[in-house]
Amino acid sequence: MAEAGQAAVRATRPPVLEIEGLKKHFPIKKGFLRRTHGHVLAVDGVSFTIGEGEALGLVGESGCGKSTVGRAILRLIEPTDGVIRIGGEDIRELSKRELKPFRRQMQIIFQDPYSSLNPRMSAGDIVGEPLSTHGIASGRKREEIVAKLFDRVGLSRAQMANFPHQFSGGQRQRIGIARALALNPKLIICDEPVSALDVSIQAQVINLLMDLQRDLGLSYLFISHNLSVVEHISQRIAVMYLGRIVEYADKTTIFTNPGHPYTEALLSAVPVPDPKIKRSKIVLQGDVPSPVKPPSGCHFHTRCPYAVDRCRSETPLLREIAPRQFVACHLR
Ligand code: SF4
Repeated sequence: MAEAGQAAVRATRPPVLEIEGLKKHFPIKKGFLRRTHGHVLAVDGVSFTIGEGEALGLVGESGCGKSTVGRAILRLIEPTDGVIRIGGEDIRELSKRELKPFRRQMQIIFQDPYSSLNPRMSAGDIVGEPLSTHGIASGRKREEIVAKLFDRVGLSRAQMANFPHQFSGGQRQRIGIARALALNPKLIICDEPVSALDVSIQAQVINLLMDLQRDLGLSYLFISHNLSVVEHISQRIAVMYLGRIVEYADKTTIFTNPGHPYTEALLSAVPVPDPKIKRSKIVLQGDVPSPVKPPSGCHFHTRCPYAVDRCRSETPLLREIAPRQFVACHLR
């Protein structure tokens, strides 16, 4: 198959979001003069697109850079390099004022539903705040919109006056979802939105996100360390390791025929509901190496059971090894 490169990894539907060569390198400053003594290569050249009404799962162990990708897209942190196109327009260099209309199109749901909600504001005010900030609605009109959002996410209107500590974890995440919906966005970045919740509540929140996607035509970037969580909601999955995407394919391919040894290892940890099917668990040796000084060649070679000499010196490119399955591995 032809070498494709990361830029060729595209959605099949018209894109809502296109990112190309996205990088975020955090400087390490030391000493009295705060001189730069190196960089943390948190995101090191990531490219993908998300189509209208599509959910892309972004998975990898903690520290692989996936949450940094989400924050850099929203410019909650400033990317070091790359292109971020929303509706065809590159927003990376826009000023705060120029960015405002694009911010309305992209929202985020955070991992910890408690710390992401202001404890001194009522739930109704939290959900309604973006409507005031963007000058969309105030007073009675704002209250009506907020009430409808509470209905939409399965909270009662009577709860609008309550404060975050009066809600359960799952309900707090519903408040976060209602707040994200307030501005009628096209894309929501879901950053580990269920990992702080009990398993039974996780399913409810994922079902709610799937209903919203179907009814409102939303697109999601769904970030998680857990492949079985992204399985339910994503149409396509990108697997990240140490700042780079190592595999990218549709969900069925990832789950039935993973192409990268790291995807294989992640998949081997996913429980299989059928007791007749046995999957042997691949235990990776060691921790994810430091992104300050990532291993040479293939970043994964220090933990890969199949590594050969070439892996230590040559960086594998993301190539199309089967129709719409892209893998960065010399052995594929
Ligand atoms: Fe393993 Fe080498 Fe493939 Fe990297 S390139 S995943 S080290 S076999």
